[in-house]
Amino acid sequence: MHNNDAEGNDKFVAMHEARAEVDLRLSDFAPCSELKLAAHLIEKPRFPVIDYHNHLDALDPSDVLRVMDACGVEKAVNITMRTGQKALDSFARFHRAAPDRFASIGWMDWDGLERDDFIPRSLDRLETLVEHGARGIKFWKDLGLTLRDSSGGLLRIDDERLAPLFDKAAALKIPVLFHTADPDAFFKPIDRFNERYEELAAHPDWSYHGAEVTKSELLDQRDRVIARHPNTVFVCAHMAESAENLPRVAQLLATYPNVYVDLSARASELGRQPYTARKFFLEYADRTVFGSDLLPTVEMYRLYYRFLESADEYFDYPSHASRQGRWNICGLLLPEDVLRKVYRENALRLLAIAG
Ligand SMILES: [Zn+2]
Repeated sequence: MHNNDAEGNDKFVAMHEARAEVDLRLSDFAPCSELKLAAHLIEKPRFPVIDYHNHLDALDPSDVLRVMDACGVEKAVNITMRTGQKALDSFARFHRAAPDRFASIGWMDWDGLERDDFIPRSLDRLETLVEHGARGIKFWKDLGLTLRDSSGGLLRIDDERLAPLFDKAAALKIPVLFHTADPDAFFKPIDRFNERYEELAAHPDWSYHGAEVTKSELLDQRDRVIARHPNTVFVCAHMAESAENLPRVAQLLATYPNVYVDLSARASELGRQPYTARKFFLEYADRTVFGSDLLPTVEMYRLYYRFLESADEYFDYPSHASRQGRWNICGLLLPEDVLRKVYRENALRLLAIAG
């Protein structure tokens, strides 16, 4: 059966060695899976959902409510990306529209960082946010990656000068949200080996390759803050920025009882390692919170439900248009008690801290 051709080459060996050399553009490559698999459309979640991580400033509350009603979202948390009066106005718009359906989280305002009175002003701002209904304060990745103090050096996440802010959050009974790093691939060169090549090609400004600080330093700085403030509750967004490394996330939660994680924008990562992810959810069901971090649409929420509830295999993950990577996900088939906590109860506990 192994016939040799005229030159005496073995056909079987040649078949093994053949490689494609094609010039189809990557952007045009759109393969369709031929798998014949069960597909479950989950219109309503098993339990009412709280979307603990979204950004709704630009949206009309009544449009958001329509989507929420259509797909079983009980409450949505607007993490405003505005500061000052504009943040308070955004809070008011949503609270007025439906006080029971929307909650708000503030955004750390770095304006005046160079001033001597920055910390006392920030403590006042935090109080004002809470007086206007903020149920948390978010620190974004500008802290650690781009913000500089008056000496010109990068402002570290664990800079002692910021410590009063985290103590103040505990005194005001609000959690601190951290999104202070990004996927591992965002710290690697944008080249053919990068698993998020197309996403980074669409958003080159999301790349931190060559940054002054490494990802592991950023995570370590964040973790030192968590250790330093045991009375403050921290919610580490996007699976604590380590969805590719769930043992690290588990270690964080095992070490610090004051930490929660949200799963927003990480169905892609979790669903491509379904056995590992399912084990994580079962173990940390009390500390993992549902969030989407995507523009609210009925289809988007239903994809999250399919991911968490079904045993479907190899389907699209919820994402922005540029996608996160060229792979598909599997459902986690989470049990009821886990779904109840992840969808709703953990978020209620976080929102109630500020009650
Ligand atoms: Zn976000």
